[in-house]
Amino acid sequence: MSALIINGYAIDDKLLQQAPIQRCRLSACRAACCADGVWVDWDQAQRILAHAALIQPFLPAERRDPQTWFAELHDDDPGFPSGRYTGTTTVPDLDDPLKTTCIFLRPEDRLCAIQVASVANGLPPWSLKPFYCCLYPLVDEHTDANGERLPYPRLTLDDENDLFARGGDCREACAVAQPIFQVYAEEVALALGVEGYRALCAHVGVAPRL
Ligand code: SF4
Repeated sequence: MSALIINGYAIDDKLLQQAPIQRCRLSACRAACCADGVWVDWDQAQRILAHAALIQPFLPAERRDPQTWFAELHDDDPGFPSGRYTGTTTVPDLDDPLKTTCIFLRPEDRLCAIQVASVANGLPPWSLKPFYCCLYPLVDEHTDANGERLPYPRLTLDDENDLFARGGDCREACAVAQPIFQVYAEEVALALGVEGYRALCAHVGVAPRL
């Protein structure tokens, strides 16, 4: 584990590495990171369901039944805050029938209906959206490879998964290398707070973007 601790998070060295990349553009990536749906803490799924009436108008008519939004309950993963989790279901991708998307991905603009509904109802954009989605392609890991709880959650790049390798990597090549955490400054600030993000910039010696 990295020795660098900021605002209760251990910062993984992966985020400090330099890479010639910039953030993806929705017009090019078409929300590839939403292809498989997402695992969601059970309590967060219940919160989304409690706000179903806000979200339904922003989905195609055939996706508005909340009973179709989530898969089965799992109760065996201490990596989730409640220890229980479920997954969002998937539907055929209208862009490519050989692929799928999360049921909440709007086919007309490739935006997340949960986020669109939150903004349209005067709520912060991240208030209902699964935290994992808000943070991606970063991730906060609470347990190690053996399932043991870490002393500090680890903030790292979620690049060791099949979705990342299939284009859900939220990046484009560019000419200038920069620390990976700078590419995703907004996501870092979501986890650490803006002051935590700035403390990370000061540690590395780069000017903050936020
Ligand atoms: S909940 Fe929203 S952001 Fe997360 S995978 Fe589904 S559509 Fe994408």
